[in-house]
Amino acid sequence: MQTPTGKKILITGATGLVARTAAETLARDNEVWCLGRFSDPETERGLRDRGIRTRRWDMAAYGPDGRDGLDEVPDDFTHVLHAAVERGDGDFEDVVAVNSVGTGRLMTHCRSAESFLFISTSAVYAPGALDHRYTETDPLAAHSAFLPTYPVGKLATEGAVRALAVTLGLPTTIARLNVAYGPHGHGGAPVIHYRAMLAGQPVAVPHTDQHYCSPIHTDDIARHVPGLWAAATVPATVVNWGGDEVVGITDLLAHVSELTGVPVDFVPGDVTRAVVAYDDTRRRSLVGPCEWSWRDGVRQVLEAHFPGCVTAAARQTR
Ligand code: NDP
Repeated sequence: MQTPTGKKILITGATGLVARTAAETLARDNEVWCLGRFSDPETERGLRDRGIRTRRWDMAAYGPDGRDGLDEVPDDFTHVLHAAVERGDGDFEDVVAVNSVGTGRLMTHCRSAESFLFISTSAVYAPGALDHRYTETDPLAAHSAFLPTYPVGKLATEGAVRALAVTLGLPTTIARLNVAYGPHGHGGAPVIHYRAMLAGQPVAVPHTDQHYCSPIHTDDIARHVPGLWAAATVPATVVNWGGDEVVGITDLLAHVSELTGVPVDFVPGDVTRAVVAYDDTRRRSLVGPCEWSWRDGVRQVLEAHFPGCVTAAARQTR
C-alpha cells in the first residue's frame, strides 16, 4: 500500500514511543486524530503543532452507564492504528478488562473503517530455545517474570480483536511487535538499558548464550503501517512485526557500551528480561524490508535521548 493521502486516520497511543512517529508522518498528507489521556501537555502540543487533532479518551473510563468516552469522536475514519496499552501494575482483572473492553469499544465505534491495526507483542509467545525464530503459529503462553500482567492483557485483547473483526466485518491486522526503539517516549530497550547502565545497575543475562530479538526502529514502524492496513482481513491477519536483523541483547548492550563508554555489568541469573527473535517471512511478504540497520539505529536513538552521549572515538568509527 502506498502512503495514504487525504484519508481520515485515528491513532491511539501516539504520545508513546511506538505510534508517535507514525502519527507525525501520516499527518503530513492526511487528517489525523489522536486519542489519549495526554498526561504530558508538551507532547500534546507537539502533536497539535503538526496539525493533529487531539481528543481525550481513557480506555479505563467505561462503566455501567454504557458510555465509552468516544461520544465526541467522529466515527468516519478510514484507517485506525490502536497502540494504546495499559501494561498493568499487578492487577490481572484490571489489565484484561481495560484493554479488551476499551479496544472492543474503539473497534465498535470505528466499525465503518477500511482497516484496523492492533499492536500486540512478541511477549505472547511461549518461551522456547533462546535462538528460536518464532513464527506466527508458534505456541502462545502469556508469562512474563518482569511484567506479569502485560502479556495476559495483550493476549486477552487479541481475542477481543479477533472476535470483533468477525462480528463487525471490520478488516483487521494484529501485528505482534518485537523490540521497538526510537527518539520519542521511553526510547525502547536500548535507552531503558542505557539509563540503567548510567545508574550502575547490573543487567541479568542467561547462564549460557544470550536472549535474541528482532529490534525495529520507529521510522520503519511508521513506514510499515500502511502495508499492515492493506493486509487487514476478516478474520484478522496475524503477523510478527520486527526488524530485518536478529540481535543478541548482550551484543546490543555491548554496542551501547562501546558507543558511550559507559560500562555494562552483565550478571548471569535465573530471572532475565526475556525477548524473542522472529522468522520475518510473513512480515517481509506484507510490508517489505526495513531501512535502519540496528547499529546505526541504536546510535541515532541514543543521541536523540542523550545528546553528546556517543563518544568522540565512537563517532569516528562510523
Ligand atoms: P508507551 O508506554 O510509550 O505508551 C503507551 C501509550 O498508551 C501512551 O500513548 C498512553 O497515552 C496510552 N495509554 C495508556 N493507558 C491508556 C488509557 N487508559 N487510555 C488511553 N490511552 C492510554 O507504549 P509504547 O509506545 O512502547 O507501546 C505502544 C504499543 O506497542 C503498545 O500496544 C505495546 O503493547 C506495543 N508494543 C511495544 C513494544 C515496545 O518495544 N515499546 C514492543 C511490543 C509491543 P496517554 O498516557 O497520553 O494516555
